[in-house]
Amino acid sequence: MRVLSGIQPTGRPHWGNYFGAIAQYIALQNNEQSFYFVADLHALTTIRDAQVLRDNSHSAAVDLLALGLDPQQATLFLQSDIPEVSELTWLLMTVTQMSLLEKCHAYKDKKAKGLAADAGLFNYPVLMAADILLYDSDVVPVGADQVQHIEVTRDIAQRFNVIYGTEALTLPNGQTLDATAKVPGTDGEKMSKSYGNTIEVFEAPKKMRKKVMSIKTDSKTVEEPKDPETCPVFALYKLFAEEAQQAELAGRYRAGGMGYGDAKQAVYEAALAYFAEARERRAELEKTPDTVRDILRDGAIVARAKGQEVLERVRSACGLSAHQ
Ligand code: ATP
Ligand code: MG
Repeated sequence: MRVLSGIQPTGRPHWGNYFGAIAQYIALQNNEQSFYFVADLHALTTIRDAQVLRDNSHSAAVDLLALGLDPQQATLFLQSDIPEVSELTWLLMTVTQMSLLEKCHAYKDKKAKGLAADAGLFNYPVLMAADILLYDSDVVPVGADQVQHIEVTRDIAQRFNVIYGTEALTLPNGQTLDATAKVPGTDGEKMSKSYGNTIEVFEAPKKMRKKVMSIKTDSKTVEEPKDPETCPVFALYKLFAEEAQQAELAGRYRAGGMGYGDAKQAVYEAALAYFAEARERRAELEKTPDTVRDILRDGAIVARAKGQEVLERVRSACGLSAHQ
């Protein structure tokens, strides 16, 4: 079973990225069939500075390794190290209907805001389909916001297979974990880099505390009983704490006499402890950039071999000349 997923190097990972996606990567990495990549080609739709992109891509790989991705178990690579993905994108575009892409939210949202979208953003779901299909992926762990794109990938793959009467492309399934599919940000909306409501995994402690303290809550007084189930502070606490600790804080919410400041302090402390080891590993990895580059290079060799095999199959199905 091939597990595959990618993360855009568009900023530092936040709690939503970690619990929605990265924690699943780690949980599913215990076989050499797991492929994880840094989606630098996707990032080109937002980053137009070569040095920034290079730095961010390296940093994203360091983040994944620090958070527990083990290159002995899983394959970690840079999307742009596999040129086959761009060729497959073109082949898939030739069977993708415009109407399908017009429905996709990244493009639709930008258009709704009256912003000019370029063709890269419009075709982003096709590149994502190629990312997945190039490696015969079966399972794609993602947050809830990506489920639509997995459906699009299945549509495109199915259409290709039907048109060419082939089974060249493997249909993938998305996988979300209900408890963590939509982590709330400091404003209670989905935590997202583009909403400016994130708390980063490797944020400096002081800054992290400030952000946690800024989480929006209702205006109940300290004395009033509070409902943990509708409170974004409690939703975040649940991610970090054991069940017994959760029950204890929930009890303090319901009893009254506890202000939101106390709950926020509990979230801050729990988050710091939760990521303490990863923070240390990250500091170590930063001292050895060459090791990280080696891991990415070795990963690309493995991923590319698989990608070339699948692309050959696809080229042959559409009547293109054989490469090999
Ligand atoms: P952007 O706003 O630029 O789209 P993002 O914050 O949504 O950024 P991505 O790089 O798009 O982050 O997402 C990486 C992975 O993290 C995806 O699998 C996505 O589903 C997941 N993810 C992102 N935000 C959340 C969230 N708030 N809760 C759960 N999963 C999330
Ligand atoms: Mg996103």
